[in-house]
Amino acid sequence: MLPRLHAAADLGRGRPPQGSGKHGHVVDYHHVIHALRKKPMALLNLVYRDQLFPLADRGRRRIERHLVEARLPVGKTLASFDFEAVPMVSKAQVMALTAGDGWLEKGANLLLFGPPGAGKSHLAAAIGLALVENGWRVLFMRTSDLVQRLQIARRELALESALAKLDKYHLLILDDIVYVSKDQAETSVLFELIGSRYERRSMLITANQPFGDWGKVFPDQALTLAAIDRLVHHATIFEMNVESYRRRAALDRKRGPGRPPTRATIKQNAD
Ligand code: ADP
Ligand code: MG
Repeated sequence: MLPRLHAAADLGRGRPPQGSGKHGHVVDYHHVIHALRKKPMALLNLVYRDQLFPLADRGRRRIERHLVEARLPVGKTLASFDFEAVPMVSKAQVMALTAGDGWLEKGANLLLFGPPGAGKSHLAAAIGLALVENGWRVLFMRTSDLVQRLQIARRELALESALAKLDKYHLLILDDIVYVSKDQAETSVLFELIGSRYERRSMLITANQPFGDWGKVFPDQALTLAAIDRLVHHATIFEMNVESYRRRAALDRKRGPGRPPTRATIKQNAD
């Protein structure tokens, strides 16, 4: 008998298939199919002895768990994202990012800048969702909520372990970094977070202003510059400099049917 047939026969006899990786156990379908051609009954074994389905099931359940823990806003997917509205963002590049391998493995960052309504949160959540579906672990948080959480941890002398807990997420999405204000918080926790993930774990950060306003976020200029320096060292930056999607959609509705939709008015910098 061919060694390959042994592999399929093993599946039928109740041994778990060999091999595992980031995405858990991997069934060698090529070998299975090869064997099934010669031994169709093995298919029944695979199904009835619950070899193949529980594997798919386990993988699916893990992804479902990761989806719950990711706290992504509902309904923000790549399928529902209109890339034509932001021509400066390449759909191909975004799709490549959702594979995760090239950047999450080395802790590189993704920064999305643009005015309110440009689609930053939607795109961030959609990228997060696609990454979870591809087996990565993601956490989406409003930056102000996370800062608050970390401050509480620091007060309880547990900041380090709180930061370590965030390590399990390959990607931390911090939505609206500039909405964190100094009086709300002692924002050096944010600086410590950035430092702790630097070159190890990735962050996706959205902001209305590319760096101009970041002095409002960190306690002083030196810390602001140091934070920016770390974030951009290995980063992809999308400047989504377009009019609010909602505003454009409302204008299109007002103009009525039969008119071409307004596309990507590249926003002029306010005088
Ligand atoms: P921002 O975070 O930049 O302020 P949002 O992502 O919250 O903007 O977008 C505002 C609304 O418009 C959301 O409901 C979002 O789903 C929608 N939206 C924005 N840009 C797009 C787009 N390119 N395609 C589809 N929906 C979009
Ligand atoms: Mg937003």
